[in-house]
Amino acid sequence: MMGVETTGPCRLCGQNAVLQNSHILPASAHRNTKQNGRNVLLASGNGIFKRNNQTDFTDLLLCFTCEQEFSKFEGVAIEACRVAWRERGAATYVVPAGAVAALIAFAYSVFWRASISSRLGFYKLPGTVEERLRLALSAGSLPLPPELAISVSFLKVLDLPLTDRTLMAPWKDRLTAGLEVHYFSVFGIVFRMNFPYALHEIETDEFFRSDILTGRIFPLKKWEEEMIDNRFTYEAFHAKFVERPST
Ligand SMILES: [Zn+2]
Repeated sequence: MMGVETTGPCRLCGQNAVLQNSHILPASAHRNTKQNGRNVLLASGNGIFKRNNQTDFTDLLLCFTCEQEFSKFEGVAIEACRVAWRERGAATYVVPAGAVAALIAFAYSVFWRASISSRLGFYKLPGTVEERLRLALSAGSLPLPPELAISVSFLKVLDLPLTDRTLMAPWKDRLTAGLEVHYFSVFGIVFRMNFPYALHEIETDEFFRSDILTGRIFPLKKWEEEMIDNRFTYEAFHAKFVERPST
């Protein structure tokens, strides 16, 4: 980046190193929103709603080695999302065993990156959970349900057929007393993290498991569809900053 290097402690391994300008959401997910068509970047809670996004969320977070480690599972996860999205009409989609752990790690890494970065100041996890995820990602031993259980759905947005070109930065919704669901969406796939734990499985294999490598993608619940539609309507209406295509 312009020949200027910043050194500091890597947020994952703690080693002093030249810090990489890490993407919080994958660069290729940003690229999708820049293609022609209905491009939307929604950063809920901060009034950012761009119809024609040109800015990536990046921050100086990781050393080169940790960035490389992240890009390994991220590459597998992104490919799995692309393959799954083509099956979005199906009632459920069984995730290939080889992609399950990568998708879980990817989900945690996005929530973690969004939380530790000051770029997305509207999304923050408690320090203890940031540390839990840092240790899990650096050791490769991921939490198991019900702790911070991960589940995945196909994104559905009213009046927005090309959901794979929609980027939704992490946000959270209160489920019941003390329980929250955290979400983000890239490649037309919605990732959920049940915080601090999930109550129970509503459907078999609802939660991804890194120990037995199982996971399914379900359609969004009706109330979740409505919540997401409402967020788009609300953010578009209240946006502090709206960019529209020049054409
Ligand atoms: Zn590192």
